[in-house]
Amino acid sequence: MPDTCADLLAAALAFRDEREWKPFHRPKDLALGLLIEAGELGELFLWKTEEEIARALRDPAVRARVGEEIADVQLFLLYLADATATDLPAAVRAKLVTNARKYPVDKARGRADKYTELG
Ligand SMILES: [Mg+2]
Repeated sequence: MPDTCADLLAAALAFRDEREWKPFHRPKDLALGLLIEAGELGELFLWKTEEEIARALRDPAVRARVGEEIADVQLFLLYLADATATDLPAAVRAKLVTNARKYPVDKARGRADKYTELG
């Protein structure tokens, strides 16, 4: 059975609490950590062409590095959601509803334009 968001949050909080790191998990620091980890993820692709990225992603070691950085981002998201009393699945669901309103399928299908440009 796949992990749920609640499973991942429980595991992340257990990891944090075993180390008594909760006092350090202030929203500002978690938001900065999230940005730093997102930067580390972006660094793996920086200045590479689509072809270079596609070639790199055929290498299991590169895919493992990408997975590690994605996991770092996800962990910071989980910790930030916890520190701000955000129900992450509910927030994601609500945002999808908002985005569906901003990007109706009939107007947004196959387009990468911002919603203000959809007409
Ligand atoms: Mg990292």
